[in-house]
Amino acid sequence: MISLVINSSRLELSQGDITQEATEAIVNAANSHLAGGGGVDGAIHRAGGPAIMKELKANYNGCPTGSSVLTGGGNLKAKYIIHAVGPRYGGSPKDATSLRSAHLKSLKLCTANNIKSVSFCAISTGIYGYPVEEAAPIAIQTTMDYLKTHPEIKLVRFVLFDTKTYNAFETALKKIAPGVTL
Ligand code: ADP
Repeated sequence: MISLVINSSRLELSQGDITQEATEAIVNAANSHLAGGGGVDGAIHRAGGPAIMKELKANYNGCPTGSSVLTGGGNLKAKYIIHAVGPRYGGSPKDATSLRSAHLKSLKLCTANNIKSVSFCAISTGIYGYPVEEAAPIAIQTTMDYLKTHPEIKLVRFVLFDTKTYNAFETALKKIAPGVTL
């Protein structure tokens, strides 16, 4: 675990399973059909139960890449799930714009819904193929910039599933914020 204080807020990196998180919201890496899939999305729907898919189907007709939508957390400890749609990596500059925007929209949904603590997974870095060394600095920088002007969010935690992903996020955070506290 490693963390960084930004004004009255905190950005944390931890390794683990996001379905077990007790922050008010967790951020899922969804696809644009919001149709359910493998990876973290499959794990969240399995752990949270069918109410989540029912709510998605009732309220949304998919979600564009770079955006996100909110549902309740079903059986999870988290009260809300933010379903963020990151880009499928193709090596174009558009990928970074979409990845940034998926994070930003998710943070804005927290503000709009009075969510003060949120956990993100490493959006797009699994099945969507975004190299984690490129994705991590985008995720971290977008979050830091947002927290600087949005003290209403008290905690943003990145919950990284495996050691490689955790290490890439830690390297990125140390590079962006050399004074980071361990
Ligand atoms: P995408 O299609 O956006 O790439 P994936 O679900 O394939 O989404 O992967 C996104 C990230 O989520 C990857 O780093 C993957 O290792 C991670 N992941 C998979 N299962 C979990 C989980 N239970 N908790 C947290 N992260 C997970």
